[in-house]
Amino acid sequence: MNILVLNSGSSSIKFQLFGMGDGERLLVKGIADKIGLEDSFLRSEAVNGEQNRQPMVLPDHRAALQAVFDALRGHEQAEEATNGIEGVGHRVVHGGEEFGESALIDNDVMAILRQLSELAPLHNPPSILGIEVCREMLPGVPNVAVFDTAAHQTMPPKAYLYGLPLDLYRKHRIRKYGFHGTSHAYVAREAARALGRPLANLKLITCHLGNGCSITAFAGGRSIDTSMGFTPLEGLVMGTRSGDVDPAVPLYLVKDLGLSPEEADDLLNKESGLLGLCGTRDMRDIEAQARQGSEAAQTAIDVFVYRVQKYIGAYTAALGGVDAIVFTAGIGQNSSYIRSEILRPFGYLGLRVDEAKNQQNRTIFSTGESGVQAMTIPTDEELVIARDTYDLVARRRVTA
Ligand code: ADP
Repeated sequence: MNILVLNSGSSSIKFQLFGMGDGERLLVKGIADKIGLEDSFLRSEAVNGEQNRQPMVLPDHRAALQAVFDALRGHEQAEEATNGIEGVGHRVVHGGEEFGESALIDNDVMAILRQLSELAPLHNPPSILGIEVCREMLPGVPNVAVFDTAAHQTMPPKAYLYGLPLDLYRKHRIRKYGFHGTSHAYVAREAARALGRPLANLKLITCHLGNGCSITAFAGGRSIDTSMGFTPLEGLVMGTRSGDVDPAVPLYLVKDLGLSPEEADDLLNKESGLLGLCGTRDMRDIEAQARQGSEAAQTAIDVFVYRVQKYIGAYTAALGGVDAIVFTAGIGQNSSYIRSEILRPFGYLGLRVDEAKNQQNRTIFSTGESGVQAMTIPTDEELVIARDTYDLVARRRVTA
């Protein structure tokens, strides 16, 4: 069964076409980027190495999706596949409290998704648009929504409630939701597999460290706490997001420093984090600058690392111990230096890093004697979306 996975953002649509069922094969992937801008383009790449990048007028999401479908047909390998896309899986950022798992889309689901846009005004509307266009352009092909928040719906109230008037939760749904759920749940499952132990018996801390960063505590495969909150701004220091700050800071920015709410929002989301601390958002460049003696770069790394350490400590307490600390995403998978720095204090838990294995980005990079395992697992959110879509579409066929 051929499943198309779409990640629709405000100005780009990332796509991957999978052959599912009889194995799992990625056939084509690409991006329609800079939608609505003058220099929009479409890039696609098939597994056989066939590549294509061309400037293309993409005034809106409809035009971009049409271009994606045309590009898929253009790839020899995918030609048959695209004639028969049998399901489309959409990454949707916010599923609120309504979705604890992926959902086959019908009119009722669409209505709930539209309501949820209130909670994620930047992120959900492009996904909804993507779904609407697919429903129209691929009539009869089922669509599935896979939510970034869903895996965290297992958190107990003590973890998801803020110390705010309860009516803000009851009337306005203000609570911690958590994001990156697809990634955290995937690496938790893969970690259990690599350890050869049932997920149900494990206490895991998963660190998704990319441009966006978040950390999750899993008890028996259920997320019991996570660092992102009502929005993806809370928690760790990220590429351009501040993570945790005193909640009085944004008020001070607005009331005392005269920023508009939009300016304060931009400052916290787009101008803070690593970028704000040292002028660079990309960890590779920051590491290089620190090696060359940049104090600002070293400070940014220190702040980044210390925040992760504090969360690992907190989640170890919340879990009552930890079996494995798992790293994923751009920084987590690739930077042995950052991993090693983060894990430095955890000798007291019995954790022993094998530095040679760490430098090779090995799946398990703790020593044989280590009481806690240190791991790297490459995340694959698109594959999870393809799997969920395949499962729901196949189940629908059985019940139809
Ligand atoms: P996104 O959240 O956009 O998917 P990624 O997961 O690709 O981002 O992570 C991007 C981050 O990973 C960037 O800060 C990048 O510098 C960092 N990164 C990638 N490779 C390395 C590496 N070898 N060493 C250090 N950082 C790396």
